[in-house]
Amino acid sequence: MPLTDDLYRDIILEHFKSPRNAGRLEKPTLTSHGANPFCGDELELTLDIRDGALRDIRVEAKGCSISQASASMMSEAVKGRRLEEAEDLAKRFKATMLHDAPLEVSPEMEDLQALEGVKKYPVRIKCAILGWNTLLEGIAAHRTGKPEANHVETEEASDSRAVSAPSSGIGHPVPHKEEGEPARTVPGPSTSTGHSGTRTDEVREALKSVMDPELNMNVVDLGLIYQIQADGERVKVIYTLTSPGCPLGPVIKGQMQSVLGKLPWVKQIQADLVWQPPWDPKTMASEEVKTELGIW
Ligand code: ZN
Repeated sequence: MPLTDDLYRDIILEHFKSPRNAGRLEKPTLTSHGANPFCGDELELTLDIRDGALRDIRVEAKGCSISQASASMMSEAVKGRRLEEAEDLAKRFKATMLHDAPLEVSPEMEDLQALEGVKKYPVRIKCAILGWNTLLEGIAAHRTGKPEANHVETEEASDSRAVSAPSSGIGHPVPHKEEGEPARTVPGPSTSTGHSGTRTDEVREALKSVMDPELNMNVVDLGLIYQIQADGERVKVIYTLTSPGCPLGPVIKGQMQSVLGKLPWVKQIQADLVWQPPWDPKTMASEEVKTELGIW
């Protein structure tokens, strides 16, 4: 059954907020590290493998909501299984994400299907498969008698469809300072200046149809729009993103230009991305969004 975007978001956020099997095992038989430099996601799996079965698993994850939610779902789906079963599930999940193979899972693993929504955003696929690749790498290491494994997402390993994005080396959602970016004083969320209050309002309303694909919430309510200037036929938007590693920046900018271009009076659009001040949902997001996220 195709999931609606809302349900997809709810399931992912639920795992992000309450990750399953979080933490570290005290005496793991195997530790597997995973990193996705395309987004800054990192995780460490501690595994207890005995008699060919994955007796226990813990996940310590830093990174975007998709990588963390997927690792949480992975831990839930493979815990207690025989290694072959866990591997089979990991390979089927990857085939779904990378090659559009239908994912058939038992009802208790239905949450995994929420991640199929991520396929719409090829750059996020690496985030979604990181936990699974880290598990597969760990199982392979275990078979050769090693106590430790490492997995790093690379360009080839995932999928040719994935668009490369510069590595920030910084985990979502911690904002950092962009070097060379002059500090700007930005008065706060959705602050408008300009000659026409009506037009800035129109711009703000139009921008509400631009969604941050990761959180599936609009950029205005998230507080990503720092300033709107509407001046005659010209509109200038100063905005930020939830994370400097966000590979979806060009998508969001394109969407903003597209919706603003549909306003009849707009002839010229300027959208400037800034990193100062860093996005802070505690002070910048709308009350509704804060409630929805419930994570800050
Ligand atoms: Zn990610």
